[in-house]
Amino acid sequence: MSSVDVRSLFLSLSQAPCLSIEESKAALLSLRKAIVSYEEELLSALYLDLGKPRQEAYMCELGLIYKEIDYYASHLARFRKPKRKRGGLASFPSKAYVEARPWGTCLILSPWNYPLLLSLDPLAACLSMGNKAVLKPSEYCPHVSQLIQRIVNEALSDKQALCVLGPKETAEQLTALPFDFVFFTGSSKVGREVYKAASENLTPCVLELGGKSPCLVSEHADLRLAARRIVFGKCLNGGQTCVAPDYVLVDKRVKEPFVSMLKEAVDELYPNGMLGNADYGKIVSSAHLRRLLSLIDRPVLLGGKHNDSQLEFTVIEADFASLSMQEEIFGPLLPVIEYEDLDGAIKAISDRAIPLSLYVFTKSRSEAKSILSSLDFGGAVVNDTLMHLTVPTLPFGGKGASGLGSYHGPYSLACFSRETPVLHRGKIDVKLRYPPFSSKKEKLIRKIFR
Ligand code: NAD
Repeated sequence: MSSVDVRSLFLSLSQAPCLSIEESKAALLSLRKAIVSYEEELLSALYLDLGKPRQEAYMCELGLIYKEIDYYASHLARFRKPKRKRGGLASFPSKAYVEARPWGTCLILSPWNYPLLLSLDPLAACLSMGNKAVLKPSEYCPHVSQLIQRIVNEALSDKQALCVLGPKETAEQLTALPFDFVFFTGSSKVGREVYKAASENLTPCVLELGGKSPCLVSEHADLRLAARRIVFGKCLNGGQTCVAPDYVLVDKRVKEPFVSMLKEAVDELYPNGMLGNADYGKIVSSAHLRRLLSLIDRPVLLGGKHNDSQLEFTVIEADFASLSMQEEIFGPLLPVIEYEDLDGAIKAISDRAIPLSLYVFTKSRSEAKSILSSLDFGGAVVNDTLMHLTVPTLPFGGKGASGLGSYHGPYSLACFSRETPVLHRGKIDVKLRYPPFSSKKEKLIRKIFR
């Protein structure tokens, strides 16, 4: 699609009116119905593009989308209703209120790893608040992206949403346009470029980015539970999850039993091995697999085998100079670094970019509390991985290099709207504020400000 096409699509969408509450509800209903009608095709496409097992695909994509759409549909009217505020004395008499109004025309750019969830959840939230949207899914999951385009075309009018397919260059053309709001999910590197492009138009952005999410395993951890939950978090979607545990910092005194429990956990979750196992996803491309293999520059403690599209859960003995510690891994490779004292481990984490998620494993509440209060993070989980994403009342987002802004549930509705103040003045016109000024007026003004 040429840049002219992208621009004219944008212009025609931006001239369309925003959606009323009734239109938003109808759009959500129609979107949900279309997703349900394509459910089997979507599950197959997720398998073709990413080898996602059916249960995993339902659990981590479709099921979450339905839950989010249902939440938006039943809460959007309340969210959009103007909320009365107390008018100040200076503007007496008046009626003041705040209204969550749509931004207008929004751009949604999504990645390949959860291609359905990360396209359709923001799209649904966007429409809920009355916005119109241009959605560009990732070029690296072509089967899913084509279905998303069909769903959007069938469920929504071209005055409500458009789905544009294309390579990175298409995304660049889109980010140069003066959208009212940009919602980007992807890498920190591309997030910076998107932010830079948006700043040219002073377009507000939410950036849902990635990074290295650490697991801190203390000597007081339940090691068996920690191992099983870390293996789960690292193997879901072949480790290609933005909040996947990226590396482990483990107390030197418990490192050996912890590593052997990682092995036990792998054997328990994948009793028939990992390669060729239909319960274990694939690596998105051979280039990505090659990149993962090139990061193994230290002794392998567990796993290490691969086929054309899968890499076993692989534990490597690492230090902070290891290649695997220089970038987000985004695959089933787990560097394990031992620490001697907890303060040193905390410092090592805080010396690095603020992680999207922090995972702390300890049975001691006071230890967990002290670790959390010493560190900065997008979100944290004590004694598990990933599960904060499943709690509908919690916001999700990063800080610094891991992102800007947050969404999910009520936070999505807040994210896709702007709290806009409106003041209605009455007829009575107190003359106090008008010239000519006098000492009597000033005295009264001073009383008001006291
Ligand atoms: P990516 O940043 O390469 O691409 C994301 C989207 O941006 C794609 O649609 C792509 O076409 C587009 N894009 C690429 N270059 C662009 C440019 N120069 N300008 C504008 N748009 C451009 O990310 P990816 O490889 O698809 O996904 C993996 C990354 O996403 C990982 O870093 C992961 O941690 C992160 N991620 C974050 C979250 C989150 O919610 N925080 C969720 C999933 C993935």
